[in-house]
Amino acid sequence: MSALLFDAPELPVVAVRGETAAFPVRRVFCVGRNYAAHAAEMGHEVDREKPFYFTKSVFAVTPSGATVAYPPGTEDFHYELELVLAIGKPVFKAAKDEAMAAIYGYACGLDMTRRDLQISERVKQRPWDLGKDVENSAVVAPITKAGEMGAIGPQRIRLEVNGEVRQDALLSDMVWKAEEIVSHLSGFYHLKPGDLIMTGTPAGVGPVVAGDRLVGQIDGLEDIALQIGDPD
Ligand code: MN
Repeated sequence: MSALLFDAPELPVVAVRGETAAFPVRRVFCVGRNYAAHAAEMGHEVDREKPFYFTKSVFAVTPSGATVAYPPGTEDFHYELELVLAIGKPVFKAAKDEAMAAIYGYACGLDMTRRDLQISERVKQRPWDLGKDVENSAVVAPITKAGEMGAIGPQRIRLEVNGEVRQDALLSDMVWKAEEIVSHLSGFYHLKPGDLIMTGTPAGVGPVVAGDRLVGQIDGLEDIALQIGDPD
């Protein structure tokens, strides 16, 4: 091992309910348009042929309870509450049952988005990075192990901003189920322990301003909280 020119950055970790050891994060994948009502509010229909993805830098991972500065370059910073899948086993070109077995646990996540930049990039057929790979934009609450969560479907997913309900749906509204996403994504990547997948947001996305307090809940999981700070 050669010497390093400067200290290597530490990878983010996510706490696990009931464990003293934390979950080290490797990569962050995100699914687009996974709830029909949200796709419609964004001016699209869901593509039922296949899911699609974007990614965020692993260094965008931020713990629940953080205060995040309103980011630069946007006037339309949005929340998206999502179910996060935490991968715990290597999985590649997996069928659905193997994909399901690779899910270590679940968490609430916030895919914070510079919506104005996402849309302006989309219109120009450019990549979404400036809109989506925002610093501190992958907020993840503590993970609950899959066996403690039970089957995904009847749980409610609900976000409040300053105490007002903005998103309220059921996980059964997801177009692509957890195991379908892992199975499909594993056709393109060697998924490994530490990979996180944000599975898309229900309808009701909207902007935040400095001072806003977000609280998200999914039945059976730890709540997620985020405070929006003053601009950087
Ligand atoms: Mn999203």
